[in-house]
Amino acid sequence: MTNQSKLHVCIPRIIPFQYQMKAAALAFYEDPTNRLMLPTGAKEGLADVGGPGLRLGIFVKKKWQNGRVLKCRFLDGSRKQREKVEEKAHLWEQYCNIRLKFDNYSDAEIRISFIADSGSWSALGTDALIEEWFPRYQPTMNFGWLTDDTNDAEYERVVVHEFGHALGAVHEHQQPNADLRWRKDAVYDYFMGPPNFWTKEDIDHNIFERYSIREVNSTDFDPDSIMLYMFSGEFFENGQATNSNTKLSAGDKAFIAKMYPKSVTPNNYYTVQVGAFKVEENAKRMQAELNERGFGANVVQYEGGLYRVQCGKFERKEDAVILQKNLEEAGYQTVMKYY
Ligand SMILES: [Zn+2]
Repeated sequence: MTNQSKLHVCIPRIIPFQYQMKAAALAFYEDPTNRLMLPTGAKEGLADVGGPGLRLGIFVKKKWQNGRVLKCRFLDGSRKQREKVEEKAHLWEQYCNIRLKFDNYSDAEIRISFIADSGSWSALGTDALIEEWFPRYQPTMNFGWLTDDTNDAEYERVVVHEFGHALGAVHEHQQPNADLRWRKDAVYDYFMGPPNFWTKEDIDHNIFERYSIREVNSTDFDPDSIMLYMFSGEFFENGQATNSNTKLSAGDKAFIAKMYPKSVTPNNYYTVQVGAFKVEENAKRMQAELNERGFGANVVQYEGGLYRVQCGKFERKEDAVILQKNLEEAGYQTVMKYY
């Protein structure tokens, strides 16, 4: 047995192929910037990346709409377990524009169990909405080894990590800028054995494949990230283990703040204009149609001019470009605006 066997690691929940289109649609409906364009001259972008999107040939982010209140519900667990999980989950909130509310919600997006199985895992972001894969009264997150006797540091390590997945963060070793030199044979040996019994394909998918830069809001590889597995040194050419991180790193805080910014400066943003009307009613009609299709439109009027129908407010132009592309694919004529 290796040192690695002493360590509990999170096992990602992979969306089966047949639900990936549904996952993409739900992500898009939640936040229209989630569906990503295929890059022009995709080759360079596709060469060394993997991730579930690649298998289907589409790139999908799984982030929630900024400002979202996510409802969390415990399906089981002792009072102590519930209190500890809630306490640690809230650690994310001070760095991003998402609120986690815990109660006995019948329509909770995040459903937490301690007994579903022996592993710890979570749905990735909006994947939690796929009812075929995560039925309404079954967990989207499980803590298989946290008990009343588990110490505080382990609660923090595991709970903050799983809630990171729930907010849409991927494993740090799979983020686009990770450049780890694996001893692949040692990794295959270990993960094909107990308790994981992964296939070669599972291992490729969970360990070696990296997400595309377009699927995640990536930063530089962060060895202190709470989203990094602790891997033993025998898995790497240089023999050096990855850190055992139990706290949110500076990089984690910056990452989540970028993914869910607390404020958008109203005087400096990009938006996508879909129409401009003399008659307010016509603008409202188009707004209602866009909202029905999941685009979240506003009607604005500047200095007594036309009624403009606009979608999104973005600090980064690249986000507005994605939304613009999606609107055009849906048949709308658009103009990018900067205010
Ligand atoms: Zn994980």
